[in-house]
Amino acid sequence: MAMDGCDHEGPDGDDAPLGLTKNERRVWETMVGSGEPMKAYEILDALKGSGVRAPMTVYRALDGLEAKGLIHKLEGKNTYVICNHSRPHRLQVFLVCDECPTVTEIDVKGLDTLLSPFARDAGFKIETARLEVRGRCEGC
Ligand SMILES: [Zn+2]
Ligand SMILES: [Zn+2]
Repeated sequence: MAMDGCDHEGPDGDDAPLGLTKNERRVWETMVGSGEPMKAYEILDALKGSGVRAPMTVYRALDGLEAKGLIHKLEGKNTYVICNHSRPHRLQVFLVCDECPTVTEIDVKGLDTLLSPFARDAGFKIETARLEVRGRCEGC
């Protein structure tokens, strides 16, 4: 819901999280500034003014941010969103509107507990899981 990044707890308040590369920081700030899910080329467009021209630069920064748990990639829409959790989490659930760009990340309490035994029975160790729930948002 809060896409302005203020749920990120850091010593600098609204500033970018610590430990980012210069380009990760640029991309992160662009995404926070937009407040909406963004495609890689939109981020690239937004960064052209600051001298970032190579798509690889943006993809590498997005990969880095995703690995740090600060953003998520939505496969269905091929967009990236800022994580609204204060720390990396392995189970991710998104409500994705089919009518507009709205994506809301939600917490489903107990999902881990529900899912884990089934994976274990299959001899499977869960690393991450992402559920993209498609439908219509409140405003549509
Ligand atoms: Zn998240
Ligand atoms: Zn909508």
